[in-house]
Amino acid sequence: MELIKVSEVNYVYNDGNLALKNINITISKGDKVAIIGPNGAGKSTLFQLFNGLLQPTSGTVTVEGLQVCKKNLSKIRCKVGMVFQDSDDQLFNSTVFQEVAYGLLNMHITGEKLYETIAWALEIVGLKGYEKRSPHNLSGGEKKKVALASVLAMKPKVIVLDEPTASLDPHGVSNLIELLNSINKELGITMIFATHDVDIVPLLADRVYLLSKGEIICGGTTEEVFYRK
Ligand code: ADP
Ligand code: ADP
Repeated sequence: MELIKVSEVNYVYNDGNLALKNINITISKGDKVAIIGPNGAGKSTLFQLFNGLLQPTSGTVTVEGLQVCKKNLSKIRCKVGMVFQDSDDQLFNSTVFQEVAYGLLNMHITGEKLYETIAWALEIVGLKGYEKRSPHNLSGGEKKKVALASVLAMKPKVIVLDEPTASLDPHGVSNLIELLNSINKELGITMIFATHDVDIVPLLADRVYLLSKGEIICGGTTEEVFYRK
């Protein structure tokens, strides 16, 4: 089933910089998709189009058939969870509990349901018992998991991660890869991540798109893109 469709998308920044050029991508439910490419290729710009942080200059982005545009924004943001590259950009609250509660409270989820959902999300990421800790004093890998838990709590259809392994040590990287794979498998949540670390791509993605200077120059299954003879 088609989950996200990017059709003929161009994105031009205010200064005239053409950051995305005729992008066409279809992502199916349950896919694990890597967007790879050097710095400046347009990965972050593309990701911001998935949840409406930016609107395409032309073309359309749809999630479950719903167009990403101002009037659908709150619905879109329940479907699309974003994990930023720098966890400190995403963690605002003084405890892990409050951090995971934030989005749920915005959705008017309270009482028993609130506690249950937070416990569920923290259990999945392996941070049970961290409720009263400050997210700011955790390791890079733990911060990433708090961000992931607060996104998971919203029960999104897709999780979009910008450079998820960028600031992690090798142990943190393998731990996060295992976690993301299990979230995809157990919960059926679609994963889209950007990376310039090609080593993690075969471990995490079943489809890959290579972005260069705002254009997709190659795309297919990980096998096709990485091991094509
Ligand atoms: P990546 O995430 O792959 O590093 P970006 O999406 O951040 O790439 O950037 C794509 C292009 O858009 C680059 O040329 C970058 O300099 C430019 N760009 C990014 N943000 C802005 C902005 N706010 N204003 C103008 N140009 C920008
Ligand atoms: P938007 O829909 O415009 O992204 P949000 O509801 O995400 O709005 O955020 C509204 C404001 O709250 C923003 O200024 C943002 O920086 C801040 N914010 C976002 N996430 C959190 C959070 N987990 N805790 C506290 N403040 C947050």
